Amino acid sequence: MLWVTPARSALVWHWEDPFTLSDRGMLSDWLTQTHAALQRYAGILPFDVHVYMHRRDGAKEPVPWANTWRDTEQALHFYVDPDFSEDAFLSDWTAAHEFSHLLLPYLGSENAWFAEGFASYLQYALMVEMGVIAQSEADARRDKKMRAAASALKVAPLSLPESMPELKKRGAYPTFYWGGAIYFERVDAALRKQGTSLQSTLRQYLDCCRLQKTDLDGLAATLNALSGSSVFASELTLMRETPGIPPRPAKSAGTTQKRGP
Ligand SMILES: [Zn+2]
Repeated sequence: MLWVTPARSALVWHWEDPFTLSDRGMLSDWLTQTHAALQRYAGILPFDVHVYMHRRDGAKEPVPWANTWRDTEQALHFYVDPDFSEDAFLSDWTAAHEFSHLLLPYLGSENAWFAEGFASYLQYALMVEMGVIAQSEADARRDKKMRAAASALKVAPLSLPESMPELKKRGAYPTFYWGGAIYFERVDAALRKQGTSLQSTLRQYLDCCRLQKTDLDGLAATLNALSGSSVFASELTLMRETPGIPPRPAKSAGTTQKRGP
């Protein structure tokens, strides 16, 4: 198959509310850095990203709300309070999380545990790539969140995919986001034992297959083929069949590959 990856993916700006020129500069700098970090981590996105900026003045944090819309275009919506400093925006995980979603296609609301687990697992790796936090900090933050989710799910009678509607209903978002991240931690650990990683599989996926329409099982099959392993599908089966959550791997080495000096 001949596949030509576009040389670049542009950010297409939609200023939905009035922003001053200097606010626009700061906000576009923040998201341009996040977009670039994602592409250093996983390769060039095979599409432009539409960014919709909305104002939320008087918020308690720089980005009180954000979401991803994938239909005819790949779109991210950010609700921001531009009174916060650029440092505050860069230190916030929301953009790293939303941009991470773009690496996978939309898989349906019933698979939100998978999509949110993925973006949660990747968000701190992107912040490392941006130079905002150190790898050790990323590992520690991820570990803390997954430990809390594993503990909350310990006695759950149903599997995480089955518990998700109930967790959503009572607003237990960290539990289903970081419970889902445990799937990716297990997959990454298994791939590393085989001499590869989630990151290197994602790079291949972005290069060949990201624009293919698929469902969750089809995606797992594609990622299996690319990684030369069976872990994406076997771990999916385990997630669906294990009450609560499968155990976390003994030792996690993080999600970024070691770099030379
Ligand atoms: Zn998300």
